Amino acid sequence: MKPLCLVPALAALLAAGCGRGPRIDYVIPAKSQDSRVQFLILHFTNEDWESSIRILADGRVSSHYLVRERPVEIARLVAEDRRAYHAGVSSWKGDTSLNAASVGIEIVNRGDLPDKEGNLYPDYPKEQIDAVVSLVRDIVQRHGIRGDRILGHSDIAPLRKVDPGPRFPWKRLAEEGLIPWPDAAAVAAARPGFEAALPDVAWFQMKLEAHGFGIARSGTLDAATRRTLAAFQMKYRPARYDGQPDAETAALLQVLTAKNKP
Ligand SMILES: [Zn+2]
Repeated sequence: MKPLCLVPALAALLAAGCGRGPRIDYVIPAKSQDSRVQFLILHFTNEDWESSIRILADGRVSSHYLVRERPVEIARLVAEDRRAYHAGVSSWKGDTSLNAASVGIEIVNRGDLPDKEGNLYPDYPKEQIDAVVSLVRDIVQRHGIRGDRILGHSDIAPLRKVDPGPRFPWKRLAEEGLIPWPDAAAVAAARPGFEAALPDVAWFQMKLEAHGFGIARSGTLDAATRRTLAAFQMKYRPARYDGQPDAETAALLQVLTAKNKP
């Protein structure tokens, strides 16, 4: 076994060389490089702060950040240059290595677990969202993450996940200039045509795929397609997310994918 080369100053180590191998020259940076972090994925925890800490710090899943609701505070559990395990089996625009290429933010919120009255999806407190927006902006700027790669767990795994859910204010992120958003006038202009003639399921599947979802083009309104439509609706039309094809959903998809190749 080679002796470890432990010297206090890295510069001294580089200058002196370490062991018997050739000296490594670090002064020529290649132009073609960027951050390993290309995606930012948002989640809700389904758990309170204490349980979330326990699960994310000691369990088989993890995230880079956890954002508490009251009082608002942020824990960093995994350094951004390290991989956290928050995405699971997932895909976006054909990319399936999302744990390796993302930063994950877990937001403390009960989500789709019912309370005693059976209510789902509690609101996110404004102060918590303010903290999430600041954190997202900071991460995005440091890594140069594109707006269309700031996603929810339900975007990358719509058959398994609904988080961050219909109460997460994606529109606020759009208003903050962080993510693309369908132009309301363009959606209103496209809608009457779709009301007159709603496209078939194959069209919706094609557009959902062009938008980024991993979806099988079965041509039928199967459970997977309904879940994927519901995930899309939760984000862009949270007033109704029944997973049914309709004219407004078609108009939103049409406008959002106008520049994407199917
Ligand atoms: Zn999640």
